Amino acid sequence: MDVSAKTIVVTGAGRGIGRALAAHFARKGANLAVLDTDAAGAEETRQLCAAAGGSARSYVADAASEDSVIGTLDQVTADFGRIDGLVNNAGIVRDAMLVKVKDGQVVGKMTLAQWQAVIEVNLTGVFLCAREAAERMIRDGGGGVIVNISSISRAGNAGQTNYSAAKAGVAAMTVVWAKELARHGIRVGAVAPGFIRTPMVEAMKPEALAKMTAPIPLGRLGEPEEIANAVGFIFANDLFTGRCLEVDAGLRM
Ligand code: NAP
Repeated sequence: MDVSAKTIVVTGAGRGIGRALAAHFARKGANLAVLDTDAAGAEETRQLCAAAGGSARSYVADAASEDSVIGTLDQVTADFGRIDGLVNNAGIVRDAMLVKVKDGQVVGKMTLAQWQAVIEVNLTGVFLCAREAAERMIRDGGGGVIVNISSISRAGNAGQTNYSAAKAGVAAMTVVWAKELARHGIRVGAVAPGFIRTPMVEAMKPEALAKMTAPIPLGRLGEPEEIANAVGFIFANDLFTGRCLEVDAGLRM
């Protein structure tokens, strides 16, 4: 897809990878619908997109709320005429060990609230946004592209029962939707980033961050723009569907 003058929705675009995605597509001349729960962050991203030359609007939207997603995508359609692309980027972490043991004693466990919060945003949110975007793409004709942001954690990462389950689900849904939506001219892909320099990662304790980056073959964190480039490749390559690109500095080799 040539994204110039196409309308692309990016969820969780108020900062981090989502902001880089929005700016990437704005530089290519796309119209951007910048969605986030954080109004100020979304507005800052909108300004960045406008400065890059794209037509952009910001929307306060909760990807995990059915009413919010439906209302927002209706508004995006009213504002821009149609939706050509969606990047399911919004995501959160609530890390904890399944069962935490210290000196032979159980001292904690992942709470149901931690489990449900991550599943709601990272799995249900992706389902809701894709479903509503696909419905509008089919109704309005002309096909489209949906890209889901998974993670290398989809293979199973200690301390991330909730996040790993959600990100594995995101990779699986990508295949399901690629199969179901191809006949409607809609391609669906995924990107599984490694560790990327965003507020989500920078919020980690320095010792934890150092431990995490030590085994990375390329020896560094990725930059949000490197993930945006990978998503841009999926949009640009009309033969790409049902696959997940691992962009992780070699961490999962
Ligand atoms: P981030 O810096 O924490 O940014 C995430 C954005 O999503 C925030 O602006 C956040 O808003 C927003 N958000 C959270 N819940 C939302 C919801 N229910 N509806 C709409 N927006 C919501 O995260 P990031 O590091 O850029 O990560 C972006 C995506 O990449 C996530 O799916 C993440 O799992 C994935 N990923 C990241 C890395 C990494 O190393 N950074 C690695 C692999 C995968 P608030 O500020 O209001 O919470």
